[in-house]
Amino acid sequence: MTAGGTLRVVLGDQLSETIASLDGLAPATDTVLLMEVMGECSYVRHHPQKIALVLSAMRHFSAALRARGVRVRHVRLEDAGNTGTLSGEVLRAVRELRPERVVATEPGEWRVAQDMAGWEAATGVPVEIRADGRFLCPLPWFRQWAGARRQLRMEFFYRDMRRNSGLLMDGAEPAGGQWNFDAENRQRLPRGMIPPMLERFAPDAVTAEVLEMVGRLFAGNFGLLEGFAWPVTAAQAEAALADFISHRLPFFGDYQDAMAEGEATLFHALLSTSLNLGLLLPRAVCEAAEAAWRQGRAPLNAVEGFVRQILGWREYVRGLYWLKMPGYAELNALEARCPLPAVYWGAPTSMACMRAAIGQTERMAYAHHIQRLMVTGNFALLTGVAPAEINAWYLAVYADAFEWVELPNTHGMAIWADGGIMASKPYAASGAYINRMSDHCRGCQHDVKAAVGPKACPFNFLYWDFVARHAEKFAANPRMAMPLNNLRKMDPARLAAIRAEAARFLADLTRRADAGDAIT
Ligand code: FAD
Ligand code: SF4
Repeated sequence: MTAGGTLRVVLGDQLSETIASLDGLAPATDTVLLMEVMGECSYVRHHPQKIALVLSAMRHFSAALRARGVRVRHVRLEDAGNTGTLSGEVLRAVRELRPERVVATEPGEWRVAQDMAGWEAATGVPVEIRADGRFLCPLPWFRQWAGARRQLRMEFFYRDMRRNSGLLMDGAEPAGGQWNFDAENRQRLPRGMIPPMLERFAPDAVTAEVLEMVGRLFAGNFGLLEGFAWPVTAAQAEAALADFISHRLPFFGDYQDAMAEGEATLFHALLSTSLNLGLLLPRAVCEAAEAAWRQGRAPLNAVEGFVRQILGWREYVRGLYWLKMPGYAELNALEARCPLPAVYWGAPTSMACMRAAIGQTERMAYAHHIQRLMVTGNFALLTGVAPAEINAWYLAVYADAFEWVELPNTHGMAIWADGGIMASKPYAASGAYINRMSDHCRGCQHDVKAAVGPKACPFNFLYWDFVARHAEKFAANPRMAMPLNNLRKMDPARLAAIRAEAARFLADLTRRADAGDAIT
């Protein structure tokens, strides 16, 4: 290998042909570096499907580059000499290839950015770190936007993003005359309605080889490998997008918040893995949805609701993550300290809603937003699970989990550990919410109408205990006025009984967590 040229680093979630580090690629002299390293596969105990997805997508990406005549150094996880870390592999590549410089794209996680900042000193060659241009909101723009505001709220960010991007706009006005069609959305799934089957992608030889390796090396991790069917190439991701637009997008808004026994995916897109790895670009996904509306193939309430998730929430949480890290992860506004209950790792539970959400997480490395927020997230919020423990769980078990998107959603939205930076009030709810949006309660051992007694729904007594426990903290929050009012009106004897029920449950939870046992 001759010295010179540029070493171009592509991380496992940067698998886009347009990634900044490949800008200006000179195939005759440059080498593209992809690194499968144990450090990245094990900094949390990732679901085996997540590890397999990233490694298989990386191998397919390398193959596609090589087919275009690009020189690729792809370090495999089990290669002899693999140092196990990104920094170690960059250093090894620089020593062996002797490039003039290294070019990388800014990573999605704070800890990798810290690592990357040391590459120049470690390798002794210039390291250029480029902005990640795949997102619709450049980070400097977000910083400026946030700097001009006393309070950050997604809805206003989203409107500005609509204006900036031109998505779903008719001139200066929002398409259809409204920014938000949520009032028409969020219905319960009608009885007998069967959501369409998903297009799934059977493993090819490359994926099969990865699955064998991951099954061997990560056998102890929570989650099943069987049934792996994630898109691992840009072409498969395009097919998944087309399938969503044709078959599920028209109902996306209506049933966005619905949950149903035995229905893991409903009308959701299942595109977050492809977006987060870079197999799909957010603008193209939003444009495809907008085109479906303009061609009369999907209603505006569905398309606007979908675009808001990507152009709004996805960009917003990324901006927030980079604005607030590293201190953000340390916040613990509600002083939550409980260990993660064993049910999160699949221990048997009598709670049908938790069983459904965690069971499908184990099978598929997937749960949709409302399951993450209002079932497993709500339970962690109400029981006071320590932020570090629940954050690590979400980061581990979902195939789409990368810290820039996982942390604000968990830490900020689900468990309100940031004290309201992300959400104006905690997403705390009793069993009534789950009963309204799902059919889980029908087949549950607990009685969703009961807050005390042997069959009481844990979400009920935990909810009132949570509101009472934090009443002082929430007193100045106008969005918590209603639950606090209801709490004040509650018969003191009933409240005492509810809180005693909650205390018993929480004590049992801690005891069982210590013993690694089931929760109820
Ligand atoms: P759909 O419901 O079909 O939504 C379409 C797309 O919008 C998604 O693919 C995703 O890219 C985007 N999106 C929707 N909601 C959000 C959101 N709140 N934040 C960012 N993007 C959003 N999403 C991740 O990509 N990675 C995570 O690690 C992650 N962790 C989460 C943890 C918690 C506690 C919660 C409440 C949410 C989390 N989310 C995460 C957001 C959301 O739940 C997932 O993006 C979504 O469930 C992915 O499935 P889907 O592709 O079928 O999404
Ligand atoms: Fe969940 Fe309570 Fe309904 Fe059971 S009764 S499914 S625990 S909300």
